[in-house]
Amino acid sequence: MPSSACIKLFACTFINGLIMSFKRNPSVIVIGAGMTGILMAKKLKDAGIEKVIVLEKKEKVGGTWRENTYPGVACDIPSHMYTYSFEPNPNWSNFFARGNEIQEYFENVVDKYELRPMIRFNETVTEAKFDNGVWKVATSTGDNYECDFVISATGILHHPSLPDIPGLDSFEGNMFHTSNWNHDVQLDATQSVGIVGTGSTAAQCIPELINSGAKVNVFQRTPQWILPLRDFSIPNFVKRLLGKFPTLNRISRASGKFFVEHFFTKAVTGHKIQRFLMEFFVKLNLKLAIKDPELRRKLRPDYQVGCKRLIINTTFYKAIQKDNAALITEGIDHIEPKGVVTKDGKLHELDTLVLSTGFDPLAYMRPMNLIGKDNTHINDAWAENVGVYRSMLIPKFPNFFLTLGPNTPIGNFSVIAMSEVQCGYLMKLINQWRSGKFDAVEPTNIAVENFNAYVKDGLDATAWVGGCTSWYLDAQGNPILWPYTWGRWVKEMRIPNDEDLQFASYTQ
Ligand code: NAP
Repeated sequence: MPSSACIKLFACTFINGLIMSFKRNPSVIVIGAGMTGILMAKKLKDAGIEKVIVLEKKEKVGGTWRENTYPGVACDIPSHMYTYSFEPNPNWSNFFARGNEIQEYFENVVDKYELRPMIRFNETVTEAKFDNGVWKVATSTGDNYECDFVISATGILHHPSLPDIPGLDSFEGNMFHTSNWNHDVQLDATQSVGIVGTGSTAAQCIPELINSGAKVNVFQRTPQWILPLRDFSIPNFVKRLLGKFPTLNRISRASGKFFVEHFFTKAVTGHKIQRFLMEFFVKLNLKLAIKDPELRRKLRPDYQVGCKRLIINTTFYKAIQKDNAALITEGIDHIEPKGVVTKDGKLHELDTLVLSTGFDPLAYMRPMNLIGKDNTHINDAWAENVGVYRSMLIPKFPNFFLTLGPNTPIGNFSVIAMSEVQCGYLMKLINQWRSGKFDAVEPTNIAVENFNAYVKDGLDATAWVGGCTSWYLDAQGNPILWPYTWGRWVKEMRIPNDEDLQFASYTQ
């Protein structure tokens, strides 16, 4: 190396080292070791922040992929898109990766980047309280922590929603929610199984139940639109090519993103051509896949395509036409020890009842006791509406950051891509803290109001208000999604806007 280059390199390293030594080093608690918690831990570690603790309520990482082990569990986002940008995986077995493989991927990332020592397992955060510039965090093990930042990475869909059906607890057979699958239950032709719900989860597990030979009663309250994107196994030579030429992997990821953004996302956010195409394909799918006109009538939704999360599936329609399957559209009246009684008075006797009834997305970090400035409890702060700035910052909760909060562009996009953008934004704020710009940051009330109004403006054009109920809607019936393009969201999330934020200093 020429001597001038050596001198430059030495000078840069020296100056960087000097800057780092002047930078403050924050203590950070990340709640949850799922996809976002792992990502945040890695970003903090990469930034040289050493005082990071990830508190995980269970014994393993993986979040939703650890919890959901129901038969047929898979991702309906293309596998190469459902990976961290820094850790492409050329070895996915299928176009839509299976749940256990995704779980393995997250475990491998944690080991590869040596994040495990940062994680404390089997420790649930019970309370986080902001006290004069410091977050005081208490956990189920009786431990107490103090830190500068708390990052909630608790995911969106982690509180199972159990149906409010009279007599539910009186059922004498096996009963469980899909996110708590009982693998000890035998499924074969001698068994009679009922399943309540027909969402994305049910569409994946109903075909598996039916293929087990069991007699399966599907209790459908509302039918769903289904887009038939076929899964396929990825040949070994393709895996080898992707491993050898990482650019191919990046191209595969980028093309998946392009397709989802310019077809799926636009189809549900008011873009006419994409909406027309999506409607055309799902209606054609129903027509071609279901032979019996009466069954087709029962399976035809009466709301706009994309109003509920679009289901990507090619197995449900085939399975529901099998002799051991029955689609029951009569409403459920109550549940008895022997089975489900529908409104027509008929008892459907069952050995097993599966509840595929979704999750409560509005709980966010709760039931944790979250207390911000001036002793403000999160339940009081959110009593009327969930006020969050850019899906992440909450007024009166300085240095508490929510990830995948309300109005994140969830839907049929990769949540990993969303978390990468949000964690990048949060790292910018944390770096501002490190350089001494502030001790505590929170959004101004007006910034939250403006953000909510801005989001609300775009919602009328979306499919989510297209005449259905879904987990996308909050208590006031407003969708909790981002109504504009993915590109616009990414652009707006690049830099924290000083005028929307309130900075404070605390003398310790
Ligand atoms: P969901 O979409 O919320 O579906 C819940 C189902 O339960 C609906 O069919 C609902 O009927 C029914 N239901 C709820 N309460 C009921 C009651 N009291 N009586 C009768 N039916 C009742 O839940 P999910 O299927 O678990 O999916 C949730 C989300 O998880 C998805 O939207 C998706 O974001 C995510 N997910 C993703 C994948 C993936 O591959 N990436 C896979 C699975 C799940 P109504 O429609 O009438 O309310």
